[in-house]
Amino acid sequence: MDSQKTLSPHVLIFPLPLQGPVNGMLKLAELLCLADFHVTFLNTDHVQHRLLRHTNVQSRFIRYPKFRFRAIGDGLSEDHPRSGDQFMELVDGMEAVTYPLFTEMVTSGDLSSKSEQPATCIIADGFFSFAGGVAQQIGIPLIYFDTLSPCAIWIQLCLPKLIEAGEFAFKGDNLDAKITCVPGMEGFLRRRDLPSFCRSSDVTDPIIKLVLKEDQELPKAQGVIIHTFEELEGTLLSHMRSLCPNLYAIGPLHTHHKVRLGSSKATFSNSLWKEDKSCLAWLDAQPIKSVIFVSIGSLAVMTKDQLLEFWYGLVNSGKRFLWVRRPGSIAGDCTESQIPAELLEGTRKRGCIVGWAPQEEVLANPAIGGFLTHSGWNSTLESIVAGVPMICWPYFVDQQVNSRFVGEVWKLGLDMKDTCDRVIVEKMIKELLEERKDEFMGRADQMSKLARKSVSEGGSSYCNLDRLIEDIRVMSSPASQA
Ligand code: UDP
Repeated sequence: MDSQKTLSPHVLIFPLPLQGPVNGMLKLAELLCLADFHVTFLNTDHVQHRLLRHTNVQSRFIRYPKFRFRAIGDGLSEDHPRSGDQFMELVDGMEAVTYPLFTEMVTSGDLSSKSEQPATCIIADGFFSFAGGVAQQIGIPLIYFDTLSPCAIWIQLCLPKLIEAGEFAFKGDNLDAKITCVPGMEGFLRRRDLPSFCRSSDVTDPIIKLVLKEDQELPKAQGVIIHTFEELEGTLLSHMRSLCPNLYAIGPLHTHHKVRLGSSKATFSNSLWKEDKSCLAWLDAQPIKSVIFVSIGSLAVMTKDQLLEFWYGLVNSGKRFLWVRRPGSIAGDCTESQIPAELLEGTRKRGCIVGWAPQEEVLANPAIGGFLTHSGWNSTLESIVAGVPMICWPYFVDQQVNSRFVGEVWKLGLDMKDTCDRVIVEKMIKELLEERKDEFMGRADQMSKLARKSVSEGGSSYCNLDRLIEDIRVMSSPASQA
């Protein structure tokens, strides 16, 4: 690198092009802007288009003259749904198109050492194993931001051990058999709680190969940012540090971001769908802690049968509900004429359905008493901060283990995994909002306080972010990169 050019750090941030990672990394980007860094935020064209269409992100970032967006293709057609059930198509498209474009950009293009303002540090999603080789080639530091939950990352890192011990891939259908060789999780981790890709019976499955590659690459990076706070997962983090010594636990990022911006009440939408804010007025008209919020995030898909089981469970519980039905989240056609009249009637009386909600604001609304969630990691952390107990219906990836931690370790809710039955939905809603309400609320409230404390001045995440900023500054200095 030409040491004359780089006096100020220039961080290139490259998230996986999905709602959760884009949201978290944009918040991190703004935190780095506050430290007066140059920041280039690299999106795929698809994400960039949706972000500009549905948020005010461009006008929000205008105050940071050292920030800029860049966008490159993802190899898929514009009308591709990019939903969770087609994730491998996105991976293939990115491998074919995005990775070469990225590599060109940093090795010889406008972020390379030949440019006016070369990148001095890459922060890439932990999924992008290829980034290690690229950073090494150009001689700049790489910090991974692994946006999965730490409990899932730790299981991933133990995968070679699981394979060696014969605990993965497992034969037969006994999903309740215990997993014994993930340190820190002995005693409560079952096969059914392993990340969803571990249900494959084939260790040569393409997704397993990607995970094993990630296992090799993560420890080689200069650091790994993880989205959690020490008080939530301290034991696991010490296990993880045995393989990845330089961990930065800086979450929950949405709260951390608000604290550092000094705007606890403000909202910062990074939504890739149009938020329907009418549900906030509906919530304002409901009694305190009376509503169950239902959302399966940005990728999960449910069948029409599952939709009906949820719907009956919600209506039969007699509770009020706010339900996000993301466009494309129900597989196949489902018209109103196919819906039994009693469900439409129950919804008219006690329900509100929207296509996409301002989730952080929803969870913070006093009317919310519980969250029926797919256990995506961002949703889980957002619920923890808001002090809202959960019913977990995990769909894929880390969600299977997140829900186990919610139900069995933190005891912040109930785990409904591997079932979808109206009677169970109804029973769990009543348990959460009525029968065991005080017990769940008490623990959720305690955990919420710890989460908030971690991002306030002097708290663990606050200090970890300061350390990250300082480390990037040092790593970006001409002396370090010479
Ligand atoms: N989200 C939202 N509005 C919705 C549903 C989801 O803003 O109606 C946001 C939610 O707040 C979270 C993200 O989308 O930040 C979903 O990420 P998560 O990790 O929970 O699940 P994923 O979508 O990756 O499965």
